[in-house]
Amino acid sequence: MSVTTRRTGSTQAELLSRRASAVPRGTFHVAPIFADRASGARIWDVDGKEYIDFCGGIGVQNVGHCHPKVVAAVKAQAERFTHTCWHVAMYEPYVGLAERLNELVPIPGPKKTIFFNSGAEATENAVKIARAATSRQAVLSFERGFHGRTLLALTMTGKVKPYSEGFGPFAPEVYRLAYEPFFGGAGRSDSEAERDARTALDHVFSYQIEPQQVACIIMEPVLGEGGFLPAHPAAMRAVREVARERGILFAADEVQTGFGRCGALFAFERYGIVPDVVLMAKSLAAGLPLSAVTAGASILDAPQVGGLGGTYGGNPLACAAANAVLDIMAEEKLPQRALAIGEKVLARFRAFEERFDFVVEARGLGAMCGLELDSAARAADVLKQALGRGLLVMTANGNVIRTLMPLVISDAELERGLDVLEESLAAVG
Ligand code: PLP
Repeated sequence: MSVTTRRTGSTQAELLSRRASAVPRGTFHVAPIFADRASGARIWDVDGKEYIDFCGGIGVQNVGHCHPKVVAAVKAQAERFTHTCWHVAMYEPYVGLAERLNELVPIPGPKKTIFFNSGAEATENAVKIARAATSRQAVLSFERGFHGRTLLALTMTGKVKPYSEGFGPFAPEVYRLAYEPFFGGAGRSDSEAERDARTALDHVFSYQIEPQQVACIIMEPVLGEGGFLPAHPAAMRAVREVARERGILFAADEVQTGFGRCGALFAFERYGIVPDVVLMAKSLAAGLPLSAVTAGASILDAPQVGGLGGTYGGNPLACAAANAVLDIMAEEKLPQRALAIGEKVLARFRAFEERFDFVVEARGLGAMCGLELDSAARAADVLKQALGRGLLVMTANGNVIRTLMPLVISDAELERGLDVLEESLAAVG
């Protein structure tokens, strides 16, 4: 076998053609661009074009691209060692990060944290941990929920196209709740939403699985991939209470909603509830692959020695980046900044709702805002228009334009991005 050399210096057109022949189509892309460099809330492509970034690498760059403190932390760690494997020679940044997350996650009592590489791994391991802690097997998740693409995570994910189509058989003992009683329907009163949620849970316990068999219920406070649809607060509280009544662990999937995005470090804090297990990834480590599961010490200590872990989980570079992220979150008050960004975005989105008859709904929690359009085809046209005008933005559930801009975005960049979005909506109207 001959050694291949890496080709460099290609234009975007050349790279697209190389991508088509070398990489499978299954790895979708939002825009036909290749990044050259990025900083804060901006990305430059290899042809030199600049974009305002409303995607943040799908909710990963809440502290902004190439934050100097993250870059410095990763460089400093890389110069000492990049990998020893946590299971071989342990290192302080892992323990230190676990200690900090144990303090930040507002679950009462002693807590522990374990690290993995991806959101999917966090969700899979949360189920293993919940099963070990409860000696029960079943899992409840929601239609339109998204928890990742590995087999168990995919089974919990409640959407067929494009996620699970053609990939069965799926993991056993996963039961899905309809989403409507729990998410959206902001016009419902608290008592209506609570009644709807309790009825839906009773229905599952009557016709699908006895509650004594359920280890955990996994819930995103705001459906992410499912369409940026916030849970109704009273429904979320009902899930919390029913889980407690039935001895079921409540696992909050904060992979997309977390790390300041929704106006608090974790979105569940905005709902005034406390979960039993918290799942984190994405903006935890500003682009280094890292996910975490935090829970009460007795829950996390349930699996046996050797039952949890992996070669790369809690990699030192990723832990160094995450430790810098936690400093930045506090120093730059990014959860508060998310509230201010969200107010601006939602005000503009509400104006778009007035102006364009094809806008179905403007909604959001903090800076996690969605603009639902009447069709996925129209949303795709808007994205294309926006890209041409220098705004990188993406959809959720096909027809919902979503905002995941870095929280360090300047007011001028934010206004410019929203102006471009308005021009793009006008262009397809
Ligand atoms: N959970 C939620 C709520 C997500 O939004 C995602 C990814 O978008 C995942 C889990 C899966 O994360 P990953 O893509 O890192 O496996």
